[in-house]
Amino acid sequence: MSLKLGLVGIGKIARDQHIPAIAADPRFELVATASRNASVDGIAAFTSVEAMLAAMPELDAISICTPPQAHFTAALAALRAGKHVMLEKPPAATTREITLLQAEAARHGRTLFQTWHSRFAAGVAPARDWARDWARGRTLTGGRILWKEDVHQWHPGQQWIFDAGGLGVFDPGINALSMLTAVLADEAVVHKAVLAFPENQQAPIAAQLDLRTEAGLRVEAEFDFRQKGEQTWDIELHSTAGELRLSRGGSRLELDGRVVVDAEAMAGEYSGLYARFAELCAAGQSEVDWRPFQLVADAFLIGERRTVAAHQV
Ligand code: NAP
Repeated sequence: MSLKLGLVGIGKIARDQHIPAIAADPRFELVATASRNASVDGIAAFTSVEAMLAAMPELDAISICTPPQAHFTAALAALRAGKHVMLEKPPAATTREITLLQAEAARHGRTLFQTWHSRFAAGVAPARDWARDWARGRTLTGGRILWKEDVHQWHPGQQWIFDAGGLGVFDPGINALSMLTAVLADEAVVHKAVLAFPENQQAPIAAQLDLRTEAGLRVEAEFDFRQKGEQTWDIELHSTAGELRLSRGGSRLELDGRVVVDAEAMAGEYSGLYARFAELCAAGQSEVDWRPFQLVADAFLIGERRTVAAHQV
């Protein structure tokens, strides 16, 4: 029997990825949406999560695709109504919200799946195997993240990105951190950070992080929303036994200059997420790994703040 699903926040990612992935997965049936201004043809539509939960007690699960500022209230209401919850990235607006949701899911015996879609990109699993291939005596010697995109091209009109809790350039940049934390065997911490805030906005438009692992590995990361021309979503790792380049957001992988994975951008990521959500619901388990969000929060805590020219969305 399929899980009856309510989708919250019908915007770009809901339409581009969630709705097609749900439609292709027989373990789910989309039966309702909750969105203030949007709906999906033929599906019961509500303008709030509360109204959807009240009108449709038969719902089994809720998938939340709103910006992070709206996650906590929606997820809390759904968990308290006894529903399983899947959360888009970034998981929340503050760190405390995540731990409270985790506790609430456990209290109600429901699944909380706090997702990182980029971890399902085609190149990530083989990159992880490469980075952990100790049989070859491989020791990582350094790494670099370059995450540079044109915010006007990819996020037109999305003011929420630059509002408090929107994370600014870390909204896409956290994808790189989600992959890095999945690939590396050692834990990374933020050693230094520089964040550039537009004078009229509450979130950074660019950032540089100096990450260090317990083992002393240094990974330098540059995130920039002002990129024109070529767009870059790359992670490089250097080692005593070869080089890794995970590019195009994780869909392409080169090892020692040889292409070993070359998939369409985002191919399979959302089918992978919904497959995992179905497994977790069936097993009565939650999956929460907010280390990427901790790294971003720590960059806000210790980062040097610079003010740059005003930015209009
Ligand atoms: P979006 O196009 O702005 O859509 C989000 C929708 O959420 C809005 O259309 C809005 O619909 C609803 N919403 C509820 N509360 C809101 C609030 N406080 N502020 C703004 N909108 C609110 O954004 P998106 O690109 O789909 O991104 C949503 C989330 O998915 C983000 O966390 C993002 O990081 C993640 N994501 C996006 C992409 C992508 O390619 N765009 C990829 C992966 C993940 P109503 O007005 O109808 O309520």
